[in-house]
Formats: sequence, structure tokens, C-alpha cells
Amino acid sequence: MAHGTAPTGAALRVRALESLLEEKGLVEPKALDAIVDTYETRVGPRNGARVVAKAWTDPAFRRRLLKNATAAVAELGISGPEGEHLVAVENTPSVHNLIVCTLCSCYPWPVLGLPPVWYKSFAYRSRAVRDPRGLLREFGLELPDHVEVRVWDASAEQRYMVIPERPAGTEKMTEEGLAELVTRDSMVGVAKIQPPARRASR
Ligand code: FE
Repeated sequence: MAHGTAPTGAALRVRALESLLEEKGLVEPKALDAIVDTYETRVGPRNGARVVAKAWTDPAFRRRLLKNATAAVAELGISGPEGEHLVAVENTPSVHNLIVCTLCSCYPWPVLGLPPVWYKSFAYRSRAVRDPRGLLREFGLELPDHVEVRVWDASAEQRYMVIPERPAGTEKMTEEGLAELVTRDSMVGVAKIQPPARRASR
């Protein structure tokens, strides 16, 4: 999949609107940058990674997370716009979950940050539904036939995050160490988490 191509019509319109607002003195460019930076890097997917690591190490938290994710992540102080009605879906050896927003780009901001460009692309949105296995293969994830793929279509009413499988060889790791293994892509469902040894040798 081609990531990060030329700006789309929407991106250009946003840029034009931004300059106009700045020109009229209605927004402070630094404030905009700070918001984007907060969601893209600082808050971003690190919150989701904390949630996953806690779910792996605390079975009672995991149960609460699967039952009511909005309430469970709030226990960790995580909440905010685009995070209401959050649903956590869990990968297992026999089930793989993938999230998409077929209509636009609904995404759980408080746990995953801002959506990557490819998440918003028409190709991703249509193929996630039509051919999820083929799409995952392009992300480098080949799933055996016996694994069921479940595709979750996000909306303004309901947003999803994937709890990826905990990789083998991580039994002795701390919750903080585990959180560092968790990637954004694994929480969207387009990747698995590599065991620590394999990551080191890459
Ligand atoms: Fe959407």
C-alpha cells in the first residue's frame, strides 16, 4: 500500500482554511501545532500501549476492559474527545481483529492518537471489508487459514481498539517493558507484536 502520497483535496482544503484563519488572527499556529503534536507523538499510541500492557498483566483489568473499555481506560486517566464508546476487541490464536472506518476516519484518539494517512485512504477502507486477508498480507501479515478475521467498522458512536496477543518470551517482563513492545499498528490490527528477541535482531 502506498503510504504518504500527494496531499488529497481534503488536506489542501484544510491547509487553505488554516492559513485563512491564521491570516485573520483567529487561530494561533503554535496552538495548532501543539494539538497535532500531542495526539500524534506524545499522547498518541503510547496510551493504548499502556492499556494493552495492563490487560496482559492484570486479568481483572482485562475483563473490565473487554466489558466497558471507556470506563476501564478512564481508570488509567485516559479519556478525551473521540474516545467515548470505546470497544476493545481481543486477538487470540484463532481470532484476528482489524479496525477500519469505512465511511471516513473514525479512530479512538485518546488511546491511539491521530490516525495514520493510510487509515483514511479509500484503498484501506474498502479493502479492509472486501479482502481483509489480502490487505493484511500487504502489511506483511500472513494469517493461517484457520484464523478467523473479524473486521470492526468504527463510527462516531463506536470506536475500537485491538488488544494484540502477548508475544512469547515476555513472561518475565514488567508492565512498563511490555508497553514498549506494543505498536500502533498492532492496536489497529494490521500487525502482530514481534517477540523481543526478533525485534532486537531486525
Ligand atoms: Fe469515520
